[in-house]
Amino acid sequence: MKKIQLLPILMGVLLVVSCVKKGPWKGQEIVLGTAVTISVHDCGSVKGIESKIEDIFTEMKELDILWAYKGEESDLALLADNAGGESQRIDQYTFDLLAKGLQFEQLTDQAFNIRMGPIKELWGFHSPNPQIPDSADIGSALALVDGGMFFAGKSCLLGLAGMKLDVGGIGKGFAVDLAVDKLIDDGVKAGLIEAGGDLRAFGAPRTGEKWRIGVRHPRKPDEFYCILNIGEWAVATSGDYQQYFEVNGKRYHHIIDPNTGYPSTGCVSATVLAKTCTEADAIATALMVMGAEKGGRWLEENPGYFGLIIYFDEEGNLTHLISPELEDSFSLH
Ligand code: ADP
Ligand code: MG
Repeated sequence: MKKIQLLPILMGVLLVVSCVKKGPWKGQEIVLGTAVTISVHDCGSVKGIESKIEDIFTEMKELDILWAYKGEESDLALLADNAGGESQRIDQYTFDLLAKGLQFEQLTDQAFNIRMGPIKELWGFHSPNPQIPDSADIGSALALVDGGMFFAGKSCLLGLAGMKLDVGGIGKGFAVDLAVDKLIDDGVKAGLIEAGGDLRAFGAPRTGEKWRIGVRHPRKPDEFYCILNIGEWAVATSGDYQQYFEVNGKRYHHIIDPNTGYPSTGCVSATVLAKTCTEADAIATALMVMGAEKGGRWLEENPGYFGLIIYFDEEGNLTHLISPELEDSFSLH
């Protein structure tokens, strides 16, 4: 019998998945600052799937330590503490993450930037008291955002004292890919892994079926904006509704334009489909910075990435643009 199950997720995307009689096998833990859910729908001939799921969480927790902003075992703290000084040896995962981050910086003309640490600190979105920073402080922090990163072997140096990395726009996607790749390598046939709204699906929920992904309405927290029926894709959503505060009726959210040091303004949410979740995560953040018009053009010019951008039109009505390739899989909720 087909059972529909709703998984409420804190962030951008909500899932609706069909369950088969045997399974799905599920695990959920808080990692990388968010709820991560691993659902295996067809484990093939893999034995002990529960312990494989546990192993993946153990590995994700290692990423958590490596990519924390402080702590003796954190690579990001190590690089920040030695910025402008000596090059430091980093873990292979951190190396891969930074290499990918720099690749997406280039692909998005720096709308995505992994060196946003000093700006993020000023706004304090991850603290209990976020605030509008002093404009002079934003100016000094922006100079650091453009500072060079230098690699030699598996060592890295942030070129200017005061530089700090911020992998918040890509780390969850990377962790999802790591988990999916491990499950596929083990012989798992179908599943879906989701971290705070970013997800990747592989196989099919049932033979011949597609995964049904609900995209959260950016202004109605308990509603979907639309449903996407997809095959083996990664989907990530960035939005101005996840972390924000308001001053005099104006919304200040956590995705910052690296050109200005202020929250991006051109759209309210961006959902991206890509082959990997690392790509989808980074590009969704970048589209928020580009805004609807430029972001729409970027999607047209970059085959292999598809998107849904929700924005306010000139009359103040919520509207969207969508890649033509997605129109058949899209239904308004
Ligand atoms: P979420 O993590 O809330 O799902 P995103 O994937 O869009 O949403 O990541 C937002 C996070 O990315 C911010 O909290 C911050 O850490 C980081 N960030 C903010 N602006 C940028 C930017 N222009 N480029 C890259 N990362 C950014
Ligand atoms: Mg992102």
